[in-house]
Amino acid sequence: MMLLQVLVALLPVFAFQVWYDYSKPRKNVPIYLILFCGICVLLGLGVCIDIHEFYLDYHYAPLLLGSLYGGIGVFLGLSTIFMASDLLMMDGLWGWIDIGGMLLLLGPIILKFHKGFIQFSFKRKLAIVMSATSVILLIRACSFVFYYRSEQPVWSFHEVIYLIGHELCYFVIIWMILIFSESFIRRQTIASHYHGISDKYRIEVQKLQQFIDETPLGVIFVDQNGMITHVNEMAIHLLRDKVGGKQRQELVGQPFTIMYDHIEKDVLGRLLYQALNGHRLTTEYVQEQGKIYVNSGICVRDIQNDEIIGAALIAHDITELNRLRDEIGRMERLSLVGQMAASITHEIRNPMAVIRGFVQLMRERSPEDQQEYYRIVMDELDRANAIINDFLSLAQNRIIAKESCSLHEILNEIMPLLWADANLRGQTIELRLAEKIPQLMLNEKEMKQLILNLARNGMEAMDQHGVLTIQTLAFPDSVELRVNDNGSGIEKEKLERLFEPFFTTKSRGTGLGLPLCLSIIERHGGRIHVESVEGVGTTFIVRFDRSRNYNEAAAALSRA
Ligand code: ADP
Ligand code: MG
Repeated sequence: MMLLQVLVALLPVFAFQVWYDYSKPRKNVPIYLILFCGICVLLGLGVCIDIHEFYLDYHYAPLLLGSLYGGIGVFLGLSTIFMASDLLMMDGLWGWIDIGGMLLLLGPIILKFHKGFIQFSFKRKLAIVMSATSVILLIRACSFVFYYRSEQPVWSFHEVIYLIGHELCYFVIIWMILIFSESFIRRQTIASHYHGISDKYRIEVQKLQQFIDETPLGVIFVDQNGMITHVNEMAIHLLRDKVGGKQRQELVGQPFTIMYDHIEKDVLGRLLYQALNGHRLTTEYVQEQGKIYVNSGICVRDIQNDEIIGAALIAHDITELNRLRDEIGRMERLSLVGQMAASITHEIRNPMAVIRGFVQLMRERSPEDQQEYYRIVMDELDRANAIINDFLSLAQNRIIAKESCSLHEILNEIMPLLWADANLRGQTIELRLAEKIPQLMLNEKEMKQLILNLARNGMEAMDQHGVLTIQTLAFPDSVELRVNDNGSGIEKEKLERLFEPFFTTKSRGTGLGLPLCLSIIERHGGRIHVESVEGVGTTFIVRFDRSRNYNEAAAALSRA
């Protein structure tokens, strides 16, 4: 019978196991503990030994340990079960000592130590439960004294020894429950630790894998036998001629030699081969079908014993990078030439003004029949001057001051000049302004120059009676300026060259008007676009995005 009692008292151990298995969703743990330990309390009472109406049992054990591990809620639940069952089974008044002792002596111990009990050291736990066990025995002793005095039963010596032995067994039982529970908990802690570490490891591996897959480098990993273990999409893309349309899955597990006919001849194959033979890092440049690659073979070693465990090949397509570098170099040279040209041109302007002045003087003093020659000389001087002026505006890519203003104000200011010009040519100008136009950050002088250039080009492309239409359109986030003519139109081949400096089809043109327009528009964060039909006419569309226009103005301010 006592063995059965011990077994029942040990049952809570299993509760801990299940408790820890369920420890991920922790919500129901206290309820579960109450149920399980509560049943143990009841079972403990159920298998009690009755000696002359005095019950011997171990039902304090599940109450104590369940409450210490489970906390205050579990203690409340278990003590309720404990009291209810004790009241039901009560044979005499000494039963109240069991209940009162539990509440007044054991209760405070549990309340004091349940917080963080699981984290305590084993020694501390042992000390706590052993002191609690002593308290239990004290309660039992009081209960027995009270029972003995009120009932005055006749106990044999044998029975008294059994009673003492039975009650002392409490120490062993509670110690055993603690030991078993602790070993369970330790095992579970190690397991969850292990899970945590393996999770972290998995995440790191995934990160690395994603990084390799997404990097703009072609990457191939092989093991020490030269079998491909990993190849990213970029590598397949770069090596598309060599892999012959094979997918990643088909390549993994194959020897890397399947990608090369002659390893010695092929750079990539050779790099991998060298890496597998212990060359730490070898890099070669390859130029192939108009592309330039930097390829590196890297030997991969086991950090612990320095053994070669594989190799990696990294291929980098630097064609675009190279092109950019060349482009930047070219631009720098051009800008240097431009700056020099600008300063020379500037110096030419002054002597030319002097020459023009004297030619004018000579013309006034010359006979009538030579006037025509002077006129030609002066016209050519004016043309040279116009070229110089346009060129200087283009070359001086200076920072300009912009202020918030309306395109309409600028248009209205310059229209008289355009009308006069059109009148001389016998042409008309139609102005169609949008109803309301948002303000933009504009430089007035430059905008006037832009409108003037576009309008003059239009007029120059039309015969007499031509109609030039200047139109503005307002959109929620942008403003458009359209300059349309019904002139000759532009041939397809010439369309692409319009914005090249010095491209002109006119005998007296400079070919600098449109390049200047383009640079003005760019400085204002705008875009230009041409639509032209030969024989019908041409429309130049300039579009200013408001956000880009403001950004450009802010950037110019910060540069200034
Ligand atoms: P320029 O006016 O001095 O020739 P531009 O840069 O202003 O230089 O124009 C370059 C060339 O683009 C012109 O010579 C002309 O052939 C063509 N072009 C420009 N605007 C028009 C237009 N509205 N209609 C037809 N051709 C045009
Ligand atoms: Mg022009």
